[in-house]
Formats: sequence, C-alpha cells, structure tokens
Amino acid sequence: MAYLGNPSGTMEIIRKYHLNIQKKFGQNFLIDDSVLTGIVDAAEITRQDCVLEIGPGIGTMTQYLAERAGEVVAVEIDKALIPILQDTLSEYDNVTVINKDILKVSIQQIVEEKNAGKPIKVVANLPYYITTPIIMKLFETGVPLASVTVMVQKEVADRMQMKPGSRDYGALSLAVQYYSKPELISKVPPSCFIPQPGVESAVIRLTRYQEPPVRVQDEAHMFEVIKAAFAQRRKTLSNAVSHMPSLGVTREQVVAALAQLSLPADVRGEALSLEQFAALSDLLPKVQ
Ligand code: SAM
Repeated sequence: MAYLGNPSGTMEIIRKYHLNIQKKFGQNFLIDDSVLTGIVDAAEITRQDCVLEIGPGIGTMTQYLAERAGEVVAVEIDKALIPILQDTLSEYDNVTVINKDILKVSIQQIVEEKNAGKPIKVVANLPYYITTPIIMKLFETGVPLASVTVMVQKEVADRMQMKPGSRDYGALSLAVQYYSKPELISKVPPSCFIPQPGVESAVIRLTRYQEPPVRVQDEAHMFEVIKAAFAQRRKTLSNAVSHMPSLGVTREQVVAALAQLSLPADVRGEALSLEQFAALSDLLPKVQ
C-alpha cells in the first residue's frame, strides 16, 4: 500500500484517478509526514480511541489515524473521493467512510454506534470555508467529545485563543473558550499541502472541559447575546444587543444590566470577558 503523506504518493493518486481537485470543498491535501505525525501525536491517539475525521480527502491522515486508533469514522462530502478512499484504505479494517456532509450528519448517532456513547476524539485537516460552523456544531450539539485537534487557517487559530480587548476577539473566541481549553500545536506553511492554500495554517487542540469555566443560567441565551453583541462590530453593545429582534430587549434594559456590572453604557462587545457575558445574560430578560 502506498503511503500518501509525501508529495510523490499524493501525486500518484491524483494522476491515477485523474482527480479533479475541488476548490469549492476546500480541498488541500497534506503531503508532509512530520506535520501529519505531529497532529496524531498532539491528539494522543491510542487503540482505546474512536476518532471522527472530518474530510478524509484521499485518505492521507486517515492512514495515520488507522495505524494508531481503535476505530476511525471518516465523513467525506465529495462522492468522487469514495472509490479512492476504498483503494488507499483497503488494508485497514478499523475505518468506516461515510459519504455525507458533516454539517448534516448526526454525530451523536456515530458516537453511539461506534463508541457506545463514550467521548470520541475529532481529528481533521478542516475544509477552511466551514471551520466555524463545524466547531460550533461539535460543541453546541453537546456530543460526547474528549478533544478536537484540527488544522485551520492560522488567523482562525488566533481568534480561538484571543482574550478581550483585541480586534480579533469575538463570538468564536468565546464559544471555544467556554467549551474547551485551546492550545496552539504548530504553525504550518502552504508548502505542506497540494494544492497550496493562499493562507498560513495552524494545528490547534481544543480539550473539552468537563465543566465550563463559568456558570450561566441559560447557555443558549448567553450565546444569543454574544452573537448579537458581535453581529455589528461598530455599534456599542447596548445598541447591537437591543437591535436583535429575537432577544426582545430594549436599550434601556441592556444599559441597566451593564450598570449593575459596573460597565459603561457605551462599552463594546470586545471589552467583555466570558464571565461578564455570562453575568449579563443572567440579568437580561428572556423572550418567552
Ligand atoms: N484530510 C485530507 C488531508 O489532510 O489531506 C483532506 C483535507 S481537505 C483540507 C478538506 C476535506 O474536507 C476535503 O476532502 C473536502 O472534500 C472535505 N469536505 C469539505 N466540505 C465537507 C463537508 N461539508 N462535509 C464533509 N467533508 C467535507
């Protein structure tokens, strides 16, 4: 069997199958053995683990995962890649490939069927065009999850780790930091992929918290407030939140809640910590 984690192995498959690389699916295949080994090492994969891989592509990282994990489930949207995966993964009996859109698949069902409902590890070189919806789905649906170790755009990895006060701090930073501890594993240049992406990349590991770092009465309400606060960045928080019809609060109510937290009426979303958003959401009335 040909190993794909190098330029020649990948080029051979591309030629053999006359593969039409789909930009619209964010296809950038990894060709660097040390990057691939680094991802699997960072995820601390052992035979006890069931791994969900999002977007296996031609099966490059899947091979590394199958060598170490007990079970691998790989969800790939591109139908054209399925026969290739059957070929490149033919020697492994611990891999299941599912030809579906990860945003439409029931991850809960995969966890139940393949890991008896116990926490899985997610490992992926993500399609960059849907990084945020994928991360939000993994966390917000509450599927049993130990960690998420993923290749993302470097700028997105930065946003995930950002603290209040920075321009890049926002809803994604708050969601990631509410559900998990983010750690940057490595930066990865475009030369490690075929075709090369137009941006720098980074591997980040998000270790799921057993208990969130802050207490809040209603998680969903807090995230609605957070999303509203960052939906219109140039507005003050009180204007942005009171303009979100689904929240049904007036500017006066937001200003009063901010005052209770000793925050000025003209404060912007990027100044508030996770603790402050939790406290604000507890103070704001909810639409019934
Ligand atoms: N894992 C491979 C590698 O590292 O070489 C390929 C990674 S490539 C950056 C992203 C992969 O995700 C592609 O194979 C693409 O077809 C797949 N993909 C894109 N959108 C998807 C979706 N909504 N659901 C599942 N897979 C998707």
